[in-house]
Amino acid sequence: MSPSPRIPGHRLLHSPGPTRLPDEVLHAMSRQPVDLADARLDATIADCEAGLKRLLHTQADVLMYTANGHGAWEAVVVNLLAPGRRALIPGTGHFSESWALQTEALGGSVVRTPWHEGQPIDTQAVEQVLREDRQQRIAAVFAVHTDTASGVTSDLAALRAAIDAAGHPALFVVDVVASLGVVPFDMDALRADVVVGASQKGLMLPPGMGFVAVNQAALAVAEANPTPRFYWDWGRRRDALSYRKFCGTPPINLLFGMQAALQLIFHEGLDAVFARHRQVAGAVHAAVQGWSEGGALGFFCQVPACRSHSVTAVAVRGGVDPEALRTMARERFQVSLSGGLGPLAGRVFRIGHMGDINATMVLGALAGVEAALRLQGIPIGQGGVPRALEFLARG
Ligand SMILES: *Cc1c(COP(=O)(O)O)cnc(C)c1O
Repeated sequence: MSPSPRIPGHRLLHSPGPTRLPDEVLHAMSRQPVDLADARLDATIADCEAGLKRLLHTQADVLMYTANGHGAWEAVVVNLLAPGRRALIPGTGHFSESWALQTEALGGSVVRTPWHEGQPIDTQAVEQVLREDRQQRIAAVFAVHTDTASGVTSDLAALRAAIDAAGHPALFVVDVVASLGVVPFDMDALRADVVVGASQKGLMLPPGMGFVAVNQAALAVAEANPTPRFYWDWGRRRDALSYRKFCGTPPINLLFGMQAALQLIFHEGLDAVFARHRQVAGAVHAAVQGWSEGGALGFFCQVPACRSHSVTAVAVRGGVDPEALRTMARERFQVSLSGGLGPLAGRVFRIGHMGDINATMVLGALAGVEAALRLQGIPIGQGGVPRALEFLARG
């Protein structure tokens, strides 16, 4: 099937990043940039910093990068890991492993806990590794909150408790790239030292911005760390001048967009945003439950309470080709899905459901997926769309 040159109507973008952009964000970004000395730019940056702090529930410093999530990951590694120190990276799947490989490529040493497919972080294994680290060579725990490849969200409070139980002073670093703006997160109550985020998922922005929130303890570790760095250096970026905060020209139009996106989130209200995501995720989960009765599909996440409100990974069995399904869904029904990453390639397809989305939009997407499933001859029991409707009609 060759792609048609024009998409009639709306294409429903259900990749778990990049996500759909609200019109308000598109309009804000279509403004002309301003010069670097314009006070409007300082006001926009201050607004974005304040909004991100409010969203993260933190007093920590927020530092933004013209980069994607991998850039923000790199910032964490080069600022926190002094030569000889280690990062403990609990297994969550593709994203924990990618962060581990990036850390090692930068010369860092990594201790992993095993990833159990379909399961959240093994907090007992984390506690044990920390207890056995008697020389305290582990400088930090780098944890992925929602692993976007597996659709599993881990319990961060349980992880914090495991670090505390081990009595280990490791910094607690959390990647909320795929969960921020979707589920509640309270950096300071969690006693997270560093948080990593990016623009193109729950924040409803285009790709291109990564950011970190860094508390005093983490800043002190960075200051004492001799690892060479420049662009990513936290000390260099904590400056009153906008130009220096970005180590060069700020991504001005993305910042305009972020200002608009944060305004949308706070006008709707955080509780309403989280409730909307819960409702939309519930509809998707109800549909997958229905489809699974045909025996060919099922949840990749085996723990219902850990099923992400951002993205659902649907495991396929018995010769089902998720890539053919994606092509059919996209080209025939205008629903964009994602495939399996890393070890899950060919084993799952993924439905993103975060950001600028509502219940009726997700019903449309589920109906498109269901039509594609039927056309592919994949058994889906009595179907998933009626289950999603039933879920939504329950209120
Ligand atoms: C998307 C994602 C990243 C990486 O972000 P990029 O912008 O693609 O570099 C990191 N962590 C998680 C959990 C993600 O979902």
